[in-house]
Amino acid sequence: MKNLLSDRINSLPTSATLAMAAKARELKTQGIDIIGLSLGEPDFNTPDFIKDAAIQAINDNYNSYSPVDGYAELKDAIILKFKRDNNLDYKPSQIVVSTGAKQSIANVAQVLLNPGDEVLLPAPYWVSYSAITTLCEATFKEIPSSIENDFKITPQQLEEAITPKTKMIFFNSPNNPSGTIYSETEYRALAEVLEKYPDIFILSDEIYEHINYGAKNFSFAAIPSMYDRTITVNGVAKAFAMTGWRIGYIGAPEWIAKACTKMQGQITSGTNCIAQRATITALNESPDRIQYMVDEFKVRRDLILDLLNDIEGFKTNVPEGAFYVFPNVSYYFGKTLRGKTINNATDFSLYLLEEAHVATVTGEAFGNADCIRISYAASQEQIVEALKRIKAALS
Ligand code: GLU
Repeated sequence: MKNLLSDRINSLPTSATLAMAAKARELKTQGIDIIGLSLGEPDFNTPDFIKDAAIQAINDNYNSYSPVDGYAELKDAIILKFKRDNNLDYKPSQIVVSTGAKQSIANVAQVLLNPGDEVLLPAPYWVSYSAITTLCEATFKEIPSSIENDFKITPQQLEEAITPKTKMIFFNSPNNPSGTIYSETEYRALAEVLEKYPDIFILSDEIYEHINYGAKNFSFAAIPSMYDRTITVNGVAKAFAMTGWRIGYIGAPEWIAKACTKMQGQITSGTNCIAQRATITALNESPDRIQYMVDEFKVRRDLILDLLNDIEGFKTNVPEGAFYVFPNVSYYFGKTLRGKTINNATDFSLYLLEEAHVATVTGEAFGNADCIRISYAASQEQIVEALKRIKAALS
């Protein structure tokens, strides 16, 4: 049949993380015992105190449209959270609640980017940053990093990447997929470069801030010269095991928040009212309530690093946050395993799926073709079994 779809959708890549998760799910329904280490999704239940708040909201008859930018009480909880966790001051008019941090990011891109604008992506980066940029008919430029430098970019690289067309940089720390956390000093050094280019906006995606194994968190907007051009993105999915509840939010200059509300008003309206009410409870509580999950993720990180070290050809950094490892597997490129030639990270990831029945994601989708992403948001038993299978498939 003739392709009648728009150029827009034809040029959009499928989300590699979601595609791999769907593939793993499909194989599972066929009875194949797949271990899914592809999706960045905590395997914990949402804490009871949050579930109770949602049940209460249903019983209190929260069933109507909410304000497009979110309930006033939720905005208050977000303002409290920004102050408590990030030392950031926002007013209610600077907050917009959306259907997941992904929509928050898409809103910001839609309201700031014009066709032909350039977006800087420190690589590796989350798969949807590039796709969302493409949807806005803007172009993206990758700033490469290496495992030797803990997947961090330098101020000099940033300076060299900037052109008169640069409109925005997508910054993500703790990083998906590398787990890298930039220190305050490193933030300030990057900000010093950006100070020379007042027309560049910073989208600071801090969704993994609580999944942190001891490094000090910092926010771009906490640097006074950056505050007026930084959009701070966060949400409850990762920290509170609420991925399916779909709540993300931004703190931003008022004129950008207003534009995002206008955009959202035409596309989705206010997000799910029950999830918003539950999020009020989640954010008003101390982050100590979710520390048990972070502690467990740290145990799993150490476990998976140990197990990977024991397999030939995996080179890793030590992720300080998030729940991914991003090993360089280029050692295997050009080799033939069980009759299959591995030319790149995509071949390697597919090989692991087919021969070890372990789902990972190719690094190509994250802007680094030498690596694969392994999520350790899975039980210790699953991690041990998955790495045992990988080792066997590669030996
Ligand atoms: N952000 C998560 C991941 O990277 C969830 C899937 C997605 O939205 O990409 O796995």
